[in-house]
Amino acid sequence: MKSVIVIGGGAAGMMAAIGAAREGASVTLLEKNEKLGKKIYITGKGRCNLTNACDLPEFAEHVVTNRQFLQSALHGFTNADGMPVKTERGNRVFPVSDKSSDVIRALERECRRLRVAVRLHTEVKSIRTEAIAEKPESGDEASAAASKKKKSKITATARSTGVVLSDGTVLASDAVILATGGLSYPTTGSTGDGYRMAKALGHGVTRLVPSLVSLTARESFCATLAGLSLRNVSVRFCNKDGKVLREEFGELLFTHKGISGPVVLTATAFAADALVGGTCEIDLKPALSDEQWNARVLRELEAGKSRQMKTVVGVFAPAALGAELLTVSGIDPAKTAGSVTREERMRLAGAFRHLTLHIDGMGGFNEAVVTKGGIEVSEVNPSTMESRLVKGLYLAGEVLNVDATTGGFNLQIAWSTGMLAGRKAAKQEA
Ligand code: FAD
Repeated sequence: MKSVIVIGGGAAGMMAAIGAAREGASVTLLEKNEKLGKKIYITGKGRCNLTNACDLPEFAEHVVTNRQFLQSALHGFTNADGMPVKTERGNRVFPVSDKSSDVIRALERECRRLRVAVRLHTEVKSIRTEAIAEKPESGDEASAAASKKKKSKITATARSTGVVLSDGTVLASDAVILATGGLSYPTTGSTGDGYRMAKALGHGVTRLVPSLVSLTARESFCATLAGLSLRNVSVRFCNKDGKVLREEFGELLFTHKGISGPVVLTATAFAADALVGGTCEIDLKPALSDEQWNARVLRELEAGKSRQMKTVVGVFAPAALGAELLTVSGIDPAKTAGSVTREERMRLAGAFRHLTLHIDGMGGFNEAVVTKGGIEVSEVNPSTMESRLVKGLYLAGEVLNVDATTGGFNLQIAWSTGMLAGRKAAKQEA
């Protein structure tokens, strides 16, 4: 019977433990927190959007980084495997109970059934390895060339033999699965330990940036509008040179320091910190052509000509936003609609189409849904999740350089890579 140690009791780690135990391995799951699945608990605002019900080609489109690498994992454990669920808007899948704790409980139950040894309050410090003896070369030219070619590809020079805990205890195993997550929401236990452990073994780790995160803006009116959600708006994000980075349609939310909501989170998934220093231009009336919109504004101003602009603008937008748009357009809110000049009216109509914010920062890891970046996937076999550098070491979940948009995709990546790593670790050849 193979012995497998899983580092990290999050989504990927629990699934890896289950996958390995189902294949008959003796599994130990090590988690530094006082309980398993601390991050799962807060997913989907406590409801856990555990996957997305779209088909696999569409799923792949939502994977932002290294979608090709995930093909085997996603085919091996799909969004159709799992517990009683319901599907909501955008194919988002939730447990029928609407409780993320039920997802954790189901995973814990399966771990118990499979006799996975769960050790809480157990922090892993490093992964132990031993060198693999190099095969002697035969000497003839053909094999020398073959050997050179082989060396130019990545070849494992070590094998994992177990882990060392923070208190110095050494635990031996045939295989180790590293599933320590990324850097986002560090209070849940994701503090980047896995990157350090992988680096110590020679793995490359790409630049790490917060993703699916809010943006801060220079405009002070964001604070005034904090809490206001705009639906069905078109948003164009440009970099500091004016180059369009992303165009999104959907919901945007004002926060005390800037903007958030689905369109913003998606933009950060694709454009990351290239957004900082650039602009975000909001079109509040994307369904109308300029001509239609200008005519509508003219109509409303004529209809309300004896009323003050602060009242008339309320026809087009929530009061607080309307007031800001009047300020942006340089129109006195106390002015009657009938005394608004053509230039002022055109400026106001334009402000609705091009409300521009200057992005001066993005939220940190403490509020990012995922980490963009991670362990280089070129150093990991996508069919097994085994490290190409260290035999018997498997990697799963957010610790890898993979990430996706919101909608249940990131958890599915954790489930799928975890399951694949677990199954393969249990069967790995000596
Ligand atoms: P993690 O869940 O971070 O698990 C890693 C585990 O490893 C942790 O328990 C940690 O304590 C443990 N660990 C770390 N270092 C060590 C060590 N040295 N020794 C022992 N243990 C260690 N995705 C979705 O698909 N749907 C959602 O609805 C959703 N909502 C989210 C909401 C929020 C607020 C956040 C922050 C994320 C959300 N995500 C969602 C993203 C998703 O939760 C993650 O992508 C996913 O949990 C990653 O799983 P993981 O197992 O790789 O890492």
